[in-house]
Amino acid sequence: MNTFHADVAVVGAGIVGLAHAYAAARRGLRVALFERSERAVGASIRNFGLIWPIGQPAGRLFERALHSRRIWLGVSRDAGLWCVENGSLHLAYHPDELAVLEEYLETTPSARETCALLTPDQTTERSHAVKRDGLRGALWSRTELNVDPRQAIRTLPGWLERQYGVTLRFAAPVLGIAAPVIEMPAERWQAERIFVCSGADFETLFPREYAAAGITRCKLQMLRTVPQPDGWQLGPSLCAGLTLLHYRAFAHCAALPALRRRIEAEMPFYVQHHIHVLLSQTALGELTIGDHHEYGHTHDPFEREDINQAILRYLTAFAQAPTFAIAERWHGIYPILPGQTDLILHPQPGVVIVNGLGGAGMTLAFGLAEENLSA
Ligand SMILES: Cc1cc2nc3c(=O)[nH]c(=O)nc-3n(C[C@H](O)[C@H](O)[C@H](O)COP(=O)(O)OP(=O)(O)OC[C@H]3O[C@@H](n4cnc5c(N)ncnc54)[C@H](O)[C@@H]3O)c2cc1C
Repeated sequence: MNTFHADVAVVGAGIVGLAHAYAAARRGLRVALFERSERAVGASIRNFGLIWPIGQPAGRLFERALHSRRIWLGVSRDAGLWCVENGSLHLAYHPDELAVLEEYLETTPSARETCALLTPDQTTERSHAVKRDGLRGALWSRTELNVDPRQAIRTLPGWLERQYGVTLRFAAPVLGIAAPVIEMPAERWQAERIFVCSGADFETLFPREYAAAGITRCKLQMLRTVPQPDGWQLGPSLCAGLTLLHYRAFAHCAALPALRRRIEAEMPFYVQHHIHVLLSQTALGELTIGDHHEYGHTHDPFEREDINQAILRYLTAFAQAPTFAIAERWHGIYPILPGQTDLILHPQPGVVIVNGLGGAGMTLAFGLAEENLSA
C-alpha cells in the first residue's frame, strides 16, 4: 500500500472539516481532506444555511461567530457562493416576547451596535414576509448571513483543491489513526497534525473518547418549499417568540421565565418537542423551514407529520410568502454535548477531535478552525 504525506490531514468534509482544511491551507500547509462518502451528506448539507451570531451569548462565542461571518463573506466571494447579508428579525406578538427583546437590547453591549428594536410599521417596511396582525415589534439584527448549504458544501472542496492545492479523497473512510499514520482501505497517509471532524459518527474513530465525553445526538425535522415565483426574496431571515427559549443569547434575561411559563401552558406540544421555527432561503429561491429537537444516541428514522404540521402552523402565524407548497421533507442529526458549545479532544499527540458544535456549526466552524490552527 502506498504511503502519502501531508502537513495537515482532515477527516470529514462537512463544514467543520472544510473550515479546518481552509484554515490550514491558507497558512501555506500541505493539506489532505478525507471524506467517507462520495459526497458529504451529513448535518452540513441539511441545515438552514444560517450564519446566526445573534444566537450566541455575548463575549467569546459572539466574537467567534463574527469572525466566522467575515470568513464566510470572503470565501463566498472567492468561491462564487450565494451568500446574502440579510440580517434577521425576531418577531414579537406578545408583551412577554417584546419584554425579552427589550431587555436583551438593554443588557447586551454588543447588541447595541448590531441590533435595533423596530415598531410594527418599521418591521413590515423591512420585511414583506412578516404578518402585521397582532405584531407588537421586532428585534432587527444586521449580523446574520444566509448561505445555501447544499451549494456551499458541494462547491468548497473543489475550490480548496483549485485555489490551495488541497488533496481530496472522497469515498475514503478513515478506518484508524495511530498518529502520524492514517489508515484507509486503499491508502495510508502520514500527517503532522490530524483534525478529526467526523460529525455524528462516534463509533468508527475514538469511540472510547466519545463515550467518556458524554456526547449525544440531536435529530431535527426540516421542510423546504418549491422555489418562490418571480424571484421573490425573503429579505431578513425570520423567527418569533419560541426562538427566544432556544438560544443561549437570551438566557440571562429576567423576563424569560414568564415567557417560558406562558408558552409551557399554551403550547405544551411545542415545548415537549423543543420546536422553534426559523425561516431562511436558498440560492434557488426555496424557503427552508424548521425545526424540532429530539435528544438521544439512537433516533427513529421516520419523520413525524404532526411535528411538521406544528412547525408549519407556527410559521404561518407570523410569516407570509407567495407559496408554502412543500417540495422536500428530511431530518438532520447533529452531535451535541449538553451544556457545552464544542468538544475538543487530544486523543493522541498531533490528533485533535473537533466536534459537538450542536446547532451552530455553520455559525462557528470557520472561527473555531482559525483558533485551532493557531493553537
Ligand atoms: C437540521 C439542521 C439545521 C441546522 N441549522 C443550522 C444553521 O442554520 N446554522 C448553523 O450554524 N448550524 C446549523 N446546524 C448545525 C450544523 O449543521 C452542524 O453543527 C454542522 O453541520 C456540523 O458539521 P460537521 O462537519 O461536524 O458534521 P457533518 O456535516 O455531519 O460532517 C461530518 C462528515 O464526516 C464524515 N465522516 C465521518 N466519519 C468519517 C470517517 N471515519 N472517515 C471519513 N469521513 C468520515 C461524514 O461522512 C460527514 O460527511 C443545523 C443542523 C441540522 C441537523
